[in-house]
Amino acid sequence: MPARNILVINCGSSSIKFALVNEEHEPFALSGMAERLGDADAQVHWQQDGHKHSLPLPYADHSVALAQLLPLVEAAADGQLLGIGHRVVHGGEHFTAACALDHSTIAAIRATAPLAPLHNPANLLGIEAAMSLFPSLPHVAVFDTAFHQTLPEHAYRYALPEPLYREHGVRRYGFHGTSHRFVSQRGAEMSGLALNASSWLVAHLGNGCSTCAIVDGQSRDTSMGLTPLEGVVMGTRSGDVDPNMHSHLARTLGWSLQQIETLLNKESGLLGLSALSNDMRTLEQAREQGHVGATLAIEVFCYRLAKSLAAMTCALPRLDGLIFTGGIGENSALIRSKTVSHLQLFNLRLDETANASTVRGSAGPINAHGHPRVLVIPTNEERQIALDTLALLEA
Ligand code: ADP
Repeated sequence: MPARNILVINCGSSSIKFALVNEEHEPFALSGMAERLGDADAQVHWQQDGHKHSLPLPYADHSVALAQLLPLVEAAADGQLLGIGHRVVHGGEHFTAACALDHSTIAAIRATAPLAPLHNPANLLGIEAAMSLFPSLPHVAVFDTAFHQTLPEHAYRYALPEPLYREHGVRRYGFHGTSHRFVSQRGAEMSGLALNASSWLVAHLGNGCSTCAIVDGQSRDTSMGLTPLEGVVMGTRSGDVDPNMHSHLARTLGWSLQQIETLLNKESGLLGLSALSNDMRTLEQAREQGHVGATLAIEVFCYRLAKSLAAMTCALPRLDGLIFTGGIGENSALIRSKTVSHLQLFNLRLDETANASTVRGSAGPINAHGHPRVLVIPTNEERQIALDTLALLEA
């Protein structure tokens, strides 16, 4: 039987990221992004066989963009397109695993929208457009939150009155589940350990950043909470702040809720600290040239990350390894080195040669000999979504 393909779609409010994933071949047969949907300068660009293409689609909406992609996807899949996997950000407590999409599961995703008002409605736009364009294919939703549904209650509850949890779903959910799961499975494979008898710390460091404790293949704690703002310092998100920050800013500066949300989600983190950029590459270059803000942003980022990883060890019976992933985790030897230097009590130490050379898609151990395992593992959320989709279709 020829190898099967799954189209993976990740819809934002004005964008669609897509990848055609083949179960046997690691590189994507086709991948790309439609962006600025709804605007005059909407366009789709994609990569295929090492070539880059782009096409202007003025004022195209999600449906028009997906319709443009359809013949490309079908040609690239060569008659072996088995289904479509959709990334959905928030599955609440309802979804503990991937699920087939139909009227009732779509209604359940819609009911979760108050927990992710920016993301779930955008994800649904893509789901509904794709389902009407590809009605004969099975569609599957894969949730960012589902992997963390194994958190014990003492890890997911906030110290708030119970009705807020019971009646309004106010609890910690966690995100980046697809990535944490993918790299912990790879980590076990690379180390010759059985996933169901292994114990990992993961630092997923992209534009959004989170840490996770994974025991026997299950998430036991994670740094993000009700929303992706909680936890470590990120590109533009503050991570943890004093919960009284909102009232303090409202009282002393007269700021509105909207202004405070924008501050904490879009103007803080690396960008806010450095007053320069949310991009770690830019900050590393600026730090080399003595930029004070960039230097501080990197110091705070690494210290707070190490602190979060140390906290996550409370959920582990032992440490089989620390995994770095995401754009920063996969590429920044500086961030890995500085973070690990704060974790000496755990006996963590890097081999600086291995650390410096494990970048740009390479994977492997970077710990010094005789010290606990530290791995760099490129994440591949699209591949994990495709594998989950295939597994569900087989079941
Ligand atoms: P997203 O969360 O949007 O998927 P990525 O996982 O691509 O983001 O991560 C983006 C981050 O990775 C940015 O801060 C970027 O600067 C950083 N990054 C990418 N390459 C490097 C590099 N060589 N050195 C340091 N940081 C890098």
